[in-house]
This record gives sequence, structure tokens and C-alpha cells, in this order.
Amino acid sequence: MQPVQTISLSAAGNDSPPDQSWQSQLSGALRDPKALLAAVGLDERWLPGAEGGHQAFEVRVPQAYLSRIQKGNPNDPLLRQVLPLESEMHTVAGYVTDPLEEADHTPAAGLIHKYAARVLMITSGACAINCRYCFRRHFPYEDHAASRAQWGKTLDYLRHDDSLIEAILSGGDPLVSSDARLAWLVGELDAIPHLKRLRLHTRLPVVIPDRVDDAMLEWLGATRLQKVIVLHINHANEIDDSVMKACERLKGVGVTLLNQSVLLRGVNDNTEVLAGLSERLFEAGILPYYLHVLDPVAGAAHFDVPDHEARQLHEALRDRLPGFLVPRLVREIPGEQAKSPIEAWPAAQPSR
Ligand code: SF4
Repeated sequence: MQPVQTISLSAAGNDSPPDQSWQSQLSGALRDPKALLAAVGLDERWLPGAEGGHQAFEVRVPQAYLSRIQKGNPNDPLLRQVLPLESEMHTVAGYVTDPLEEADHTPAAGLIHKYAARVLMITSGACAINCRYCFRRHFPYEDHAASRAQWGKTLDYLRHDDSLIEAILSGGDPLVSSDARLAWLVGELDAIPHLKRLRLHTRLPVVIPDRVDDAMLEWLGATRLQKVIVLHINHANEIDDSVMKACERLKGVGVTLLNQSVLLRGVNDNTEVLAGLSERLFEAGILPYYLHVLDPVAGAAHFDVPDHEARQLHEALRDRLPGFLVPRLVREIPGEQAKSPIEAWPAAQPSR
């Protein structure tokens, strides 16, 4: 992962109130395994594993997310998403550094074009939080992130392919970028006539809800493009009042909110928790969209839930919830034109 890009902060004197801007919260995210253990009330028995995992993929947890973790509980579902464990260092057959083979689909710097009619633009190589199961935890962002000058070529690629109707800003997390940069980029996309939709994949409104501020709503509200934000929330405890408020503000400028989750052992691998997540998402005005099975990325095997169990959970969810609250259970397969629904697989197909 690249160092977090931050906007320079104002020089605050000792008497000034603490800077609570999103930029300050971003740069102040906890990035030390020992400090994480202290903050969540766990003793040093957890330290060797935390430090080992941190070497491969650094710890990063913003305060707003940290405040939702139950202290002294190593099984807290939010903590499990951010605490490196000793098991991350085990080599497990089939778990690789680029499980989706994305590095093979980059026609221009900052661009991944693997689906028809839509392209994914790597707007930032950094995230506000580092999720231990992330399928991009080893992605070589430094080779693929475009500089401002390189965006010219990337945008030309979009201008010359009129089969494209949707631009997806991703990363890392695109909302780590400054509003000035995003406003410029979205303005350029806005001017490409065949584009109809702008989609952002982000976790920032969840982990630092103050990211949804007036400056962001200004460029987002100004574009003619239809706007979709796909959030990434895995457990109902991630949605507190501040997240509710951020979602309300996004909807106020015409954003459609969807959610994708990852099915994770020890986080959300039971029907009760998944149903609670869907209900809470809907309260926040977010539609459950996808429930992904884990991509087999090196270091994350301990989160795996086998397909047969994933299917059982999904069936139980269908029995329990109205259809619009049941996310699609999917897997991403390298080379496929769309996500593959797991529930539709014939029983004879190979399954993990
Ligand atoms: S926010 Fe998304 S891209 Fe960033 S580490 Fe978490 S899952 Fe990966």
C-alpha cells in the first residue's frame, strides 16, 4: 500500500480545539500494532501475530471506526477485520497475491478494463482503513496508479471507446483523494458524452463519516452523471448515527446507495448477523447488493467460509428476509465478464 495522501493541515496552536476534519482523522489513523492492542484493551499475547501481519500489510484504523469496537473482546466483529493475526503469515495452497489477475487488464495507467461497458479507474492507492481480507492487499498500486499527467491518456481511452457507459472510481479508496482532484476528474468524465453513470466504491463514509462534507457534496451534486456509491459494510455494528447521517447527506444529492459485503469467518458467518446487517443497511437507506465469498488472497485464508456453508447461510437468509434485502451471493472469477452467482451453480460444478 502507498502512504496515505493527505491535505496539509492548518497550523493549530495548543489552545485550538482539536482538528476533526476528515483529513486530520485520515492522517491520524492508528498505524501501530501495539497501539491498536492498547486501544482495544488486548494484552501483549496478541503482539507477535499483530506485528508479523503488519509487516506484510500495515495496520491502519481510523478513530471513528475504532470507537465502535467493544474493548477487551478479541472476537469483536469490527476488530477482526483490522487486527493482524499470526495466521496471516501461513502459506496456504491456492491463496495468491493477485487472486483476480487484475494486473493483466490495465490498458492505460490507472485503468482496469475487464467488464463490458464499464471501466474501473484506480483513483488512489491508499485506504482510510486496511482490511485484513482485502483482495488488493498485495496489489502493486505503484505500477498502476496514474499521475495527474497520465490521467490525460487514461481519459483519452474513455473518450475513444463509446461502448463505455459507466466509470467506476476505485482504489484503494477513491475518497482518500482531495476534493479538488476529484472535482477535476469528475468534471472530465462529465464531459464525455457516452458516459451515463459514475460509480464510486468506497469505505470512507463508513470508517470516517466526516468525509461526507460540503466540499464533497458540491462536486458530487454538480455532475450530470447518475451517481451510485457502493459502500462496503460487513456488520451492522459498523453503522452508527454518524454513518446514518453521512448516508442521508449522500442521498440528498441524488446518490443511490448500495452495499457489498464479504462473507468472513468470525465476522458475519451466521444468519442472525447477516439478517441484522441487511435490516440495518435498509434503515440507513442502503440496499444490500452483493455478498462476496472471500477472494483467495494470500494472508486471508483464516476468513474463508466454504461454498456449501455460504449457500446454506444464503438460503436461510432468503427464508427470513424480503427479496430486496437479500444480497446476491457471488464470487469473482478471473476472466469472467461479470460476478458469478454461487447459488446458481449446478451441484456438479467444482466447488471449494
Ligand atoms: S477499504 Fe476496501 S480496498 Fe481498502 S483495504 Fe479495505 S477492502 Fe481493501
